[in-house]
Amino acid sequence: MGKRYAYFEGCFVPIEEANINIQTNSFHYGTAIFEGIRAYWSEDKNQLFGLFFKEHYERMLANCKILNMKIVETADSLSEITVELLRKCEHRENVYIRPIVYFRNLQISPKLVDYDTEFAIYTVPLGDYLDTKKGLKVVTSSFRRINDSMIPARCKVAGAYVNSAFAKTEAIMAGADEAIMLNTDGTVAEGSAENLFIIRNGVAITTPSYSNILEGITRNAVIELLKDEFGMEVVERPILRSELYVADEAFFTGTGAQVAPIAEIDGRVIGDGKIGELTLKLQELYFGIVKGDVDKYSHWLTPIY
Ligand code: PMP
Repeated sequence: MGKRYAYFEGCFVPIEEANINIQTNSFHYGTAIFEGIRAYWSEDKNQLFGLFFKEHYERMLANCKILNMKIVETADSLSEITVELLRKCEHRENVYIRPIVYFRNLQISPKLVDYDTEFAIYTVPLGDYLDTKKGLKVVTSSFRRINDSMIPARCKVAGAYVNSAFAKTEAIMAGADEAIMLNTDGTVAEGSAENLFIIRNGVAITTPSYSNILEGITRNAVIELLKDEFGMEVVERPILRSELYVADEAFFTGTGAQVAPIAEIDGRVIGDGKIGELTLKLQELYFGIVKGDVDKYSHWLTPIY
């Protein structure tokens, strides 16, 4: 990595100069839309590969719509800025990219009208967010998932992550790696920053968009791989808590989490407590694809150099 830069107020600036005023409206009310994107460094290919740039920026723009935020950039122009930023930082390692759109006005009042938007992007080197090798210890949280009539979970809005932070903190304090959040009706939603899959009797099951989940880009990619590469049936339907305990395999998906196997939920061992056979195969394929080793999926990637 070279010197760190951010894209801030329309320019590339050293990261130390990318600071907002304490009065910034979105800082107070959590009304900022953000994304989490990864780029993977391949030593073999001497190349950095951005993963799903277009999909992430399309989701970000869709979420801006939910928050009534006007932004002139397109998914393509935002992708181009990201490529330029990564080049400027001379990253030669795995990187996490954090774009954020916010109301820049220095005014008090939680509302979604009459404000101007600004956006920023910065990058940070990142390895595993969750351990992908050991099989995670997971607990269901006593904090229930926000629902669409409160804060829409499909919207990656800063304020929604108070809900995630409560759940994740509860998990950490209980000595676990991650939390699964349930909906107010007791059905399963998702992890604090991941979507969830279980495998039972040879069928993959994941919670649907109406179960108050972020519509994960990795989730979509994994559904495609399970169907097309492993010939599996994938069912999107509400999952009950007790179904988690009797699953043969379980794993999280996410940009940060990647494909992260779950070994234990609420003290119940999943399968035989080792990384599931299918989870392992899926993980290997996913890590190959993101490093540019699988031609068939090279359209998922943006080479940076
Ligand atoms: N759910 C939540 C709450 C998240 O924060 C994330 C991470 N963005 C995900 C699911 C996974 O989404 P994606 O695969 O698009 O990163």
